Amino acid sequence: MSSPIEHFEQLALSPALLKTLQELGYEAPTPIQAATIPPMLEGCDVLGQAQTGTGKTAAFALPILEKLDWNDRQPQALVLTPTRELAIQVAEAFQSYARHLPGFHVLPIYGGQSMTLQLRHLRRGVHVVVGTPGRVMDHLRRETLSLATLRTVVLDEADEMLRMGFIDDVDWILEQTPATKQVALFSATMPEPIRRVAHRHLRNPQEVRIETRTATVATVRQRYCQVGVQHKLDALTRVLEVEDADAILIFVRTKVAATELAERLEARGYPSAALHGDMTQALREKTIDQLRGGGLDILVATDVAARGLDVQRISHVINYDIPYDPEAYIHRIGRTGRAGRAGDAILFVAPREIRMLRTIEKATRQPVEKMPLPTQEAITGHRLAQFKQQVSEVLSSQELEFFQQVVAEIEREQEVSSHDVATALAYLAQRDRPLQFEDTIPKDAERERERSRDDDRGRDRERPPFRPDREERPPRGGERRDARSSSDFSSNKTRYRIEVGREHGATPQNIMGAIANEAGIEGRYIGRIEIYDDYSTVDLPDGMPPEIFQHLKRVRVRQQMLNISPFDGAEPDRKRPARPRTERTMGDRERAERRERKRPGRSPADS
Ligand code: AMP
Repeated sequence: MSSPIEHFEQLALSPALLKTLQELGYEAPTPIQAATIPPMLEGCDVLGQAQTGTGKTAAFALPILEKLDWNDRQPQALVLTPTRELAIQVAEAFQSYARHLPGFHVLPIYGGQSMTLQLRHLRRGVHVVVGTPGRVMDHLRRETLSLATLRTVVLDEADEMLRMGFIDDVDWILEQTPATKQVALFSATMPEPIRRVAHRHLRNPQEVRIETRTATVATVRQRYCQVGVQHKLDALTRVLEVEDADAILIFVRTKVAATELAERLEARGYPSAALHGDMTQALREKTIDQLRGGGLDILVATDVAARGLDVQRISHVINYDIPYDPEAYIHRIGRTGRAGRAGDAILFVAPREIRMLRTIEKATRQPVEKMPLPTQEAITGHRLAQFKQQVSEVLSSQELEFFQQVVAEIEREQEVSSHDVATALAYLAQRDRPLQFEDTIPKDAERERERSRDDDRGRDRERPPFRPDREERPPRGGERRDARSSSDFSSNKTRYRIEVGREHGATPQNIMGAIANEAGIEGRYIGRIEIYDDYSTVDLPDGMPPEIFQHLKRVRVRQQMLNISPFDGAEPDRKRPARPRTERTMGDRERAERRERKRPGRSPADS
């Protein structure tokens, strides 16, 4: 997406917000921010096609903060998110952008957290509420939250809310908001049901999307490494150890990150310098000259600072932080492979960023090859090979007579063999940089990384309170549960009965959504769901903590308390003559008709 807005100062943001962005080290608005902030500040509705990692949170949070009325302590903005992790993350982002706006209050509300606490905060007054649809509906039903004063509603990750069965709830919540409100809807994809919501609730929206112009970068070998945020620095040092590189350009998102990473690499014994927009032109040029002349091998840069950088000896570009859009990626990796040489590009991807990787692959029309993190053994092997090479070079090129005498003296005085002396000297030679590489990424974390493979929604910091230890790894997506046999259910899942069924309008999606959000069980751990006339069964991981079990008893789906209990084991169809029907086994038409039949009588109390 090309945009004439290149600096935050071009946006009508107050000095307090500009100061925050400067402190956070944001150099320039991301494309989605440049395109979204102006219409949101003008009060227009926005329909944004944007995914995680594009900077969309700031794209809606900054204009909301800018337009707050400080005399009003009733909720002025509501952000709906599909999961509690995202609700927490968005609320934290608001808090951090509001660091120079004293008195600002944001409240995340989600299932699984104490209602009393949320009520206390709501009574004290909040400016922005960030919540999951189920819990927001709960508060509306109890009249503990009023949306009458809302000025802005944001639907974040709308396609995820659709996937989790919340879209009717979102629709209903929107109906409870003032007609005059502004709506911003963000979604990575725009399937028809999302377009319908947009059509119903958005007025003349400004459509914003990141254009993915395709471009090939033929001379660059592209690889990616999947690594969680907390292990990126260790992963980077491993990569630096084994790659056969000349000069390396490392990209990060912010000025602060550039300085910090350069310092941390220095501290680990990799001489590096930062390059960012806050440096004087003279210092930037001096640093680039050092890189060009071979006095410096590692440069950590932001996108803005590295614009147009042309240094032929850059053999590697490492995308330490994933770029905001494919265009930035193409620009970054174009810094290597100059003048017809081959170049290497390595991208670090956190589980939640996999989607951006796929977008990049589409834009470059090239697959990015998966690269395993170099192992401890590989690094030790590499160091050892270098050491042996150095020894052999010294033996063939240096005048060593004096040192031969030294060794002979030690042999004589200490009555040891020359082999013993050589062993001690080898030890001394590697003390500052041990030949045996110490593993800094814990094995657990590696397992965790493996486990979250393909989990594009995995969060790096939060972990749901209930995650089974022993787990099978079914792929994500609805159909998998029906495909499994009852024998793998018995191995590590328990079947429960819940008191909501077809008669109440329950669907597997809204049961899954309610359980996922209220009990903090990730959707992928929720097994088979079967819907009967007035109850359903659901397979959940063994070993559910009693407090979660008690909490689930009171959770409501379609206004029915779940009253969950262990299923007594009888075959469902012997217990009830009705044939069990999951929604997934119905035809599309039947399902749609049934939904239509239910719609007029829908109640606000659905979870
Ligand atoms: P999001 O897509 O909203 O999840 O944001 C992804 C990450 O980008 C977050 O860590 C933000 O702090 C960071 N970020 C957002 N906008 C900018 C910007 N203009 N410059 C640098 N970093 C940013």
